[in-house]
Amino acid sequence: MRALAPGGVVGVLGGGQLGRMLAIAAAQLGFDAHIYVDHDDSPAARVSARATVGDYHDHAALAAFARSVDVVTTEFENVPADTAQALIDAGAIVRPNPRALAIAQDRLLEKTFLNSLGIATAAYAAIDAVDDLDVALARIGAPMILKTRRMGYDGKGQARVATPDAALAAFESFGRAPCILEGVCAFEAEVSMIAARSADGDIRAYDLVENAHAGGILVRSTPARASADVAAQAQAACRAVLEALDYVGVLTIEFFVMPDGALVANEIAPRVHNSGHWTIEAAATSQFEQHIRAVAGWPLGATDALFAWEMINLIGDDAARWAELAHDGRARLHLYGKRDAPAGRKMGHVTRRV
Ligand code: AMP
Repeated sequence: MRALAPGGVVGVLGGGQLGRMLAIAAAQLGFDAHIYVDHDDSPAARVSARATVGDYHDHAALAAFARSVDVVTTEFENVPADTAQALIDAGAIVRPNPRALAIAQDRLLEKTFLNSLGIATAAYAAIDAVDDLDVALARIGAPMILKTRRMGYDGKGQARVATPDAALAAFESFGRAPCILEGVCAFEAEVSMIAARSADGDIRAYDLVENAHAGGILVRSTPARASADVAAQAQAACRAVLEALDYVGVLTIEFFVMPDGALVANEIAPRVHNSGHWTIEAAATSQFEQHIRAVAGWPLGATDALFAWEMINLIGDDAARWAELAHDGRARLHLYGKRDAPAGRKMGHVTRRV
């Protein structure tokens, strides 16, 4: 695909806040965003030129969507394999490619893939049946975390376990879905590296970001205090993953920084990431524009940080503080237009120059 000219249509699977910010970035470059989402009134659809509400398994609707766009990308990693295939069968260019999505949505494939590239992960063992637990528990050793292989996010689908009984109870509570048992890493910090690869193989990385979580949900990101060596390790890991997957678009890897400075990769997100929202104001090119540039076949933009910043998520009731935040002229306020704010829901974020 040659560089998509302004006026082209970028299809986005998914309708959440990441899709919303991708659609805004697409519009800024003169593209129309066409959202495909399985429910009405989504945050992304409400800022997009066009939206289709359809099931992710409705191959006829997906084919019509594929015909109406120039390229398809996604804002979430749990795109069903048959969805991506249906789009490709209908002639769509899907970026990033379905292999990247398949690896990132299965914790076992993901860790095996990372290790195959020489990137360290926590010790892990596959748990397919109750019988696998004993051997795995003995091999990994307490403390451990049992995680479902698929569909986990923001700490969901995972449980800390120290004993065989607790592991069995957690496995039962997940409905005996395929899991991995993982060793707990006594990390000093959690960091993420966001990088992009263009269609012609150019790679650009942002500065390393440090992330603080509460209850498994990201609450605050800041520039990482890690050494240049740690940042270089993270960049090298991103480069290896991007190249091995022949990836086009923005990708994020979350890592634990261990006390000795070693990095342990926890997760690959094949998409723009919450810990990169600061780039909208505080980087030369936002992660959203960078992703649109990449999938549209454009050259990548510069990734330099422009000033010191912090990014705070507005979760649940936090967004009710909008009026107070509106008074803070230094707070760049982003609200995602979600209609209700149950506890734990990401409603918006604020980026501040510090
Ligand atoms: P995940 O869904 O894998 O991103 O995990 C959510 C959060 O749980 C992470 O951000 C960490 O704070 C914690 N966590 C996950 N896996 C581990 C691990 N192996 N060791 C220590 N903490 C972990």
